[in-house]
Amino acid sequence: MAQQAYDVIVIGAGPGGYVAAIRAAQLGLRVVVVEREHLGGICLNWGCIPTKALLRSAEVFHLMHRAKEFGLKAEGVSFDLDAVVKRSRGVAGQLSSGIGHLLKKNKVAVVMGAAAVTAPGKVSVKTDKGTDTLSAPHIILATGARARELPGLEADGDRVWTYKHALTPKRMPKNLLVIGSGAIGIEFASFFNTLGAKTTVVEVMDRVLPVEDSEISAFARKQFVKQGMTILEKTSVKKLDRSKDKVTAHLEAGGKTTTAEFDTVISAVGIVGNTEGLELEKLGVTVDRSHVVTDEYCRTGVDGVYAIGDLAGAPWLAHKASHEGVMVAEMIAGQKVHPIKPGSIPGCTYCHPQIASVGLTEARAKEAGHEVKVGRFPFIGNGKAIALGEPDGMVKTVFDAKTGELLGAHMVGAEVTELIQGYTIARTLESTEAELMHTVFPHPTLSEMMHESVLDAWGRAIHF
Ligand SMILES: Cc1cc2nc3c(=O)[nH]c(=O)nc-3n(C[C@H](O)[C@H](O)[C@H](O)COP(=O)(O)OP(=O)(O)OC[C@H]3O[C@@H](n4cnc5c(N)ncnc54)[C@H](O)[C@@H]3O)c2cc1C
Repeated sequence: MAQQAYDVIVIGAGPGGYVAAIRAAQLGLRVVVVEREHLGGICLNWGCIPTKALLRSAEVFHLMHRAKEFGLKAEGVSFDLDAVVKRSRGVAGQLSSGIGHLLKKNKVAVVMGAAAVTAPGKVSVKTDKGTDTLSAPHIILATGARARELPGLEADGDRVWTYKHALTPKRMPKNLLVIGSGAIGIEFASFFNTLGAKTTVVEVMDRVLPVEDSEISAFARKQFVKQGMTILEKTSVKKLDRSKDKVTAHLEAGGKTTTAEFDTVISAVGIVGNTEGLELEKLGVTVDRSHVVTDEYCRTGVDGVYAIGDLAGAPWLAHKASHEGVMVAEMIAGQKVHPIKPGSIPGCTYCHPQIASVGLTEARAKEAGHEVKVGRFPFIGNGKAIALGEPDGMVKTVFDAKTGELLGAHMVGAEVTELIQGYTIARTLESTEAELMHTVFPHPTLSEMMHESVLDAWGRAIHF
């Protein structure tokens, strides 16, 4: 049994854990990261990156079908699903091995195995070769999360899939049911629908993408329906009857139950934290509904034990995990740190059309007691959007009417996931409408709509 002492032990090498480890090492600490499966975690191997690779294939496929609009010829356009998946796996593999190089370059030790915290400052790791015991005054828990499974709707990998099965499909669904219209559900719905699956999305809430501003949800819904999707809101899936080549879903809406048949179901009903096997109860760390409870500095209440990323709760986003990782590493190294403001964490969904937002929705701003001024600008009023052949979309901004502070920004349309960072910086700087109006936006770009939306909130939009 090997025994080794460090300053920091990080458990989990996802975007929370590996970033925390690198930052701690940069600050001169002796760091070890323990990972039981893949460097890069869900994000690089089974989440953010491989989904974006699949969606890029779908986007190119979609554009090839529109070739004529651009004066081009693309005949007999088709796809090879195995090759699409192979590309996605290749991209994930390339990035995962890149994390290995980054950790090595920063002199972070890596132990591959499943970790448990046996006592404050002590971690035991089951590896292929036996058990390692590691010790350090600081332990960062970054074990992430996995797909939530509802009773009766459990995935079997054959007809009923989680995101892992959907990322490596053995066959193309013809008639697909997606349960849940959060970011993960909608991205898979968009991918398979674009490739030609007849796609139905069921959402228990009253609208798709329920965390987004209601105008953005409504706009996106119209586009999805135009693309051929069926969207059923205020509907829940009660049961799935499986047979060899089909699944019968029992759907309940407004007290009535109906049935519908599909050849494939993707369950995207949320995630649960990976707390099992860590022995957190013995340590005195509080776990609430599978997530570790922390304060705003990611402290668990047990000295020297921190939890970051998906394990520590919503929003379940890679950049939130990484940012928390940096904050905790700097705090351990004795630096003054600032907790992350939830209202400044952008959220992006890479469906077609894309969705991106930061800060408060109009409804939430009003609930919080703000008198608001709202600006809107449609893609149809923007030269670059027309030139790109992407006239469908909108940019919405929400301001405090009295102070002019930008409270929230919400976008739907081409490339908005790249644009949102402009408003995120504005939120971090607590910018007002005056500063945004004074900012010069390059022409012709989609970003000009971000300016126009601000101008519109004060009745000054030029191009609409
Ligand atoms: C399909 C899909 C698409 C997504 N798309 C996006 C997106 O576009 N943008 C975005 O921001 N987020 C996206 N996410 C969410 C994102 O992947 C997560 O928020 C992010 O990975 C969380 O990072 P983390 O470091 O907290 O945990 P994870 O990435 O889950 O990493 C945790 C690591 O800990 C390891 N581990 C667990 N238990 C132990 C143990 N006992 N011992 C050792 N190792 C252990 C796991 O093997 C894993 O590698 C997506 C998620 C999914 C599923």
